[in-house]
Amino acid sequence: MTDSPATATATPRADSTLLDLAHALDAADPLHAHLAAFADAPGVGAYLDGNSLGRPLKDTPEKLATFVREDWGSRLIRSWDEQWMALPMELGDRIGRVTLGADAGQTVVADSTSVLIYKLMRAAASADPSRTELVIEAGNFPTDRFMAEGVAAETGMTVRWIEPDPVLGVQVADVVAAISAKTALVSLSHVDYRSGALADMPGITAAVHEVGALMMWDLCHSAGVIPMQLDAWGVDMAVGCTYKYLNGGPGSPAFAYLRREHQGVLRQPIQGWWSAADIFEMGPQYVPAGDIRQLLSGTPPITSMLAMQGMLDLIEQASVEAIREKSLSLTDFAVRAHDELLAPLGVRLLSTRDAAQRGSHVTIGHPDFRTVTQRLWADGIIPDFRFPDGIRLGLSPLSTSHVETLTGVLAVRDVLESHDR
Ligand SMILES: *Cc1c(COP(=O)(O)O)cnc(C)c1O
Repeated sequence: MTDSPATATATPRADSTLLDLAHALDAADPLHAHLAAFADAPGVGAYLDGNSLGRPLKDTPEKLATFVREDWGSRLIRSWDEQWMALPMELGDRIGRVTLGADAGQTVVADSTSVLIYKLMRAAASADPSRTELVIEAGNFPTDRFMAEGVAAETGMTVRWIEPDPVLGVQVADVVAAISAKTALVSLSHVDYRSGALADMPGITAAVHEVGALMMWDLCHSAGVIPMQLDAWGVDMAVGCTYKYLNGGPGSPAFAYLRREHQGVLRQPIQGWWSAADIFEMGPQYVPAGDIRQLLSGTPPITSMLAMQGMLDLIEQASVEAIREKSLSLTDFAVRAHDELLAPLGVRLLSTRDAAQRGSHVTIGHPDFRTVTQRLWADGIIPDFRFPDGIRLGLSPLSTSHVETLTGVLAVRDVLESHDR
């Protein structure tokens, strides 16, 4: 097996070499057995979108049915006292311990990522009246940008935009150039949703603290696949999805991390009864809870917290460190398959070649990718399309094999080569 240069032309030989390699990598993958835990999707040849919506586990249907029959159907409202009241905090602690490097009492599950971003940004914006700027990145996910604009409009603050390299993402120097004693909060994504660029969380957080500002990380594309140490790295606040790499299902609630020293000090603005010091006191005025429960607002979506629990079991068993190893192997392989099979057809790599700076998806670009993606979906090959011309190959490590990755790349090649697209 030779290392083909990026300019190699696609040949049947490249196909079979890559297929041999994919099989060898799968055979050597210590996490390979976990693939069997995920439900089969009939007619799907390659699911490369686990970074947008993780797959259900095989036992998820039965777990949901049992919940309806027993916890809800038989225990009825007694289940609130017996288990549901504490679930947002218990599940938060679990996510914190298994995926975030966060000690108990600093993470909750609630709302959507968008709403939690608002709550935390708004809290940070009010922390110190002498600080008047929110620093965010121009290429960040829309909801993150829109929330910052909304909070700025509400508080009279200014949004300062970082415009990073689109492939490499935000670097420490970009942040340093944008922050000052006026900065209240810097809010960035750990892994860029488009390029997959992985930001230097400890380095950037330390730089932000140098000017006395707060740091918030959006972990939507990193929770469950990238090892991190929120406590040790001094992160102030973080949010993330549970329906991406944590496989919580469509619309499963988000999680928020708020460092212990900020609890009881920072106050989120949607001060519903679940965030009150005593939920059932039903008193005349609002007294905020002094702990992480202050981030809640109303009755939590218990049913939507069920599916992620099985995935957290799997992640804990496998360990995020081992999952990261597999993720690197999958993304390296996807880059190689791109070089050999797609680059000759004019496809561009829109993710970095430096594995250490990459999350768990690889983005490729071609002007025809919008129509190519429609064709792929119809054929049961499921990556996702991102405007204007990108296909993201999302490689959720526990549920994706190297052979499946190759199946996806070969299908992209075949559609690009076909005449009837
Ligand atoms: C997926 C994603 C979101 C989603 O927010 P919702 O409120 O769950 O719709 C937010 N931020 C980033 C960076 C994402 O990738």
